[in-house]
Amino acid sequence: MENLINRKVVIVTGGSRGIGAEIVKQLALKDYNVILNYNKSEKQAKEIKESLIKEGKIIEIFKADVSKKDEVKSLIKFAIDKFKKIDVLINNAGISQTKLFIDITDNDWEEMLQKNLTSVFYCTREVLSNMIKNKSGCIINISSIWGMVGASCEVHYSVAKAGIDAMTKSLAKELGPSNIRVNSIAPGMIDTDMNKEYSKEEISEIEKQEIPLQRIGKTIDIAKCVEWLIEDEYTTGQIISPNGGWVI
Ligand code: NAP
Repeated sequence: MENLINRKVVIVTGGSRGIGAEIVKQLALKDYNVILNYNKSEKQAKEIKESLIKEGKIIEIFKADVSKKDEVKSLIKFAIDKFKKIDVLINNAGISQTKLFIDITDNDWEEMLQKNLTSVFYCTREVLSNMIKNKSGCIINISSIWGMVGASCEVHYSVAKAGIDAMTKSLAKELGPSNIRVNSIAPGMIDTDMNKEYSKEEISEIEKQEIPLQRIGKTIDIAKCVEWLIEDEYTTGQIISPNGGWVI
């Protein structure tokens, strides 16, 4: 019988919906041991767990607001108590907001940075003692094309995502000698709840006018990139951008 302990252990933050939920499903189906973190969407998290368990896969779910230090500590402790190690951390949880820069309140700014950037700092810092001890690890941060090129009316979002990319590059240098790879995936526009404010017509316009491959992305496009980055052994410090050619 296969030794389940030897399987890779993966934490996916914000795994209840959208891109994170797809990553959870694809990795569980490939026989990774997965910890799905969620915050508000308990029902969705439980449904994903049930359907994967029916397929004989190994998955745990854990509620934590990753912008809160103590909740992140509980999440990582839960994962280590359960599986004894963490091989892969996928910092995916995030929020977005569209506003003119002059309308961004102090609260909007703080919430954006806390939920999209400080959360990545908390989760990464917390898993590192285990990864450094094991001299092995893979961290994948989900940033955005807007962190690379800036988005009008999403300045705070763009700043948070650019901060993630800077963290990726700096940490890759610091952690390479410990055999820990750190990379960003910077998606273009992906079909999830995050873009539900756009009408069908607006999306079709973007597809025709802006994206050389003539379509917005699907969550599976990002999950495939995650799978490749986990299995790869020589890529670190990179910002990889599946975006249909929108940003080249
Ligand atoms: P989504 O459909 O809105 O899902 C967001 C996920 O993040 C949910 O599972 C949500 O969990 C979780 N989340 C939010 N705040 C959290 C918190 N404080 N603690 C724990 N979990 C939290 O968004 P998505 O499109 O899948 O986006 C996923 C990531 O990709 C984000 O970082 C986003 O910025 C990035 N991204 C998305 C696009 C796009 O076009 N969709 C493009 C580039 C980058 P609950 O519902 O359980 O709270």
